[in-house]
Amino acid sequence: MTTDSTHVTIIGAGLGGLTLARVLHLNGIPATVYEGEPSPAARAQGGLLDIHDYNGQLAVEAADLMDEFRALVLEGHEAMRVLEPDGTVLFEKDDDGTGGRPEVYRGELRQILLDSLPAGTVRWGHKVSGVRALGESRHEVTFADGSTVVTGLLVGADGAWSRVRPLLSSATPAYTGKSVVETYLYEADTRHPATAKAVGGGMMISLKPGRELFAHRERAGTLHAYVGLEEPREWFDAIDFTDAAAATERIAREFRAWAPELSALITEAEGAPTLRPLYALPTEHRWERVPGVTLLGDAAHLAPPNGEGANLAMLDGAELARALAAHPGDVEAALSAYEQAMFVRTAETHGADEDGHSLEDLMAELHRARAEGTPNNAGVRSTHT
Ligand SMILES: Cc1cc2nc3c(=O)[nH]c(=O)nc-3n(C[C@H](O)[C@H](O)[C@H](O)COP(=O)(O)OP(=O)(O)OC[C@H]3O[C@@H](n4cnc5c(N)ncnc54)[C@H](O)[C@@H]3O)c2cc1C
Repeated sequence: MTTDSTHVTIIGAGLGGLTLARVLHLNGIPATVYEGEPSPAARAQGGLLDIHDYNGQLAVEAADLMDEFRALVLEGHEAMRVLEPDGTVLFEKDDDGTGGRPEVYRGELRQILLDSLPAGTVRWGHKVSGVRALGESRHEVTFADGSTVVTGLLVGADGAWSRVRPLLSSATPAYTGKSVVETYLYEADTRHPATAKAVGGGMMISLKPGRELFAHRERAGTLHAYVGLEEPREWFDAIDFTDAAAATERIAREFRAWAPELSALITEAEGAPTLRPLYALPTEHRWERVPGVTLLGDAAHLAPPNGEGANLAMLDGAELARALAAHPGDVEAALSAYEQAMFVRTAETHGADEDGHSLEDLMAELHRARAEGTPNNAGVRSTHT
């Protein structure tokens, strides 16, 4: 057993945990990040994230990585289109360079954070299997290989299925009633021109009740789609996702009536469609202060995808580090200040999503504007998963 009582011990090297480690480092506070995956390249990091000027970019600034961040931005990819399922354009907005939510690849953003940390900060291949309180703010973390570490300050940045969360709360994520199926089309401008045109230069949304298509244009004409279906888990369990052709055929059946250039995001996809069931913690999830431990990001406030999760995780990391730097020698005061602000921030974000900004509300507003022949200025905020 090793004792690690002077460091901040962070579980999880996602965007939240790494932002925390980076801003701690800038403030001279040592940290160790334990990550379950064996290496930075162990898992594909997913596609594009739009990083917002009101949360994610504030964290990038706190991490002093704005120049590196700007170099990652995909120019022109803030464009947005909203289409009817029959292909009619309801809303269209070009990227004129003045938007506040540039798109970057998640993996590249994670890499600039990793590159900004002192060597050895992240311990790869350390999957936490259990945690227990030892009293006096100390906790024992046990890893899958049986090794342990004792912490002075423990931070759960370990995502939806956090192993640290039970120290603070008995909440567990519940199925939201919706899953997404991820698909890819490659070199779409030459191989799938009608679909490439429908998606446009950035993001495309098309939906009707219970069914959604989102697609992002990535580099080299790759179209990355999230096909959303509101169905119970059992509905998806009945589909064999190890049989790519059968799974594609079953999902495509649900979009048969859609314009061919849109349903092609399913029927023409390459590789196996990937199922991602969506889970969320209760909206009001919070906890009483427990000495020596806290949570950030999805571990604290996993929500149905609303385009804010990674942004909030990064801001949590930056704000927690700042709180610790602002309260030298008084970790509990720092954790209290961080948690109170984080609970308010989360409630405001989730509240905004529930207050007239759902996709259904957006579509209703666009339909209304179209019927009235008024210019469209439906307050489009991030709506993709
Ligand atoms: C389909 C989909 C699309 C999304 N799109 C967007 C988007 O466009 N914009 C946006 O802002 N958000 C988006 N989100 C949400 C976003 O991905 C999350 O909110 C964000 O990744 C949370 O960051 P995090 O650092 O808290 O957790 P994570 O990114 O989940 O990182 C947690 C880390 O902890 C590690 N870990 C987990 N368990 C253990 C363990 N037991 N031991 C050690 N390590 C462990 C994991 O390997 C991982 O590296 C999307 C989510 C989904 C599902």
